[in-house]
Amino acid sequence: MNSDCLFCKIVAGNIPAKRVDEDELCLCFADINPQAPTHLLLISKQHIVSLAHTGPEQLPLLGHLLLKASEIARRAGLDRGYRIVLNSGAEGGQTVDHLHLHLLGGRPMHWPPG
Ligand code: 5GP
Ligand code: ZN
Repeated sequence: MNSDCLFCKIVAGNIPAKRVDEDELCLCFADINPQAPTHLLLISKQHIVSLAHTGPEQLPLLGHLLLKASEIARRAGLDRGYRIVLNSGAEGGQTVDHLHLHLLGGRPMHWPPG
């Protein structure tokens, strides 16, 4: 845990969040500023700054996050499709420096993203 990190504080329960799922490796909760009818964040419980800070030792975690996202999307009824977004680094649009995926659904998505 990084005591300066917002998402570590959410994992620890020190900041409230609308939790939708949790296991030993990850936590899923609603984004505070939703960009779609369904907008969930799926974060690693371990403090990892970004995808750019991962290596082969995170292979099981990264696979787990993607499979978990598909399971949560299925349970959320997003059978018409959804989008997974993973911003990495400032120019990638990352604003919280703790590894997370966005799961967005419930409306048509556009391409290319901004
Ligand atoms: P990023 O821009 O790093 O990919 O995504 C960070 C996301 O975290 C943003 O979509 C933002 O709305 C969300 N967020 C920021 N602060 C909080 C918070 O305190 N609680 C929750 N639930 N989401 C947050
Ligand atoms: Zn953290």
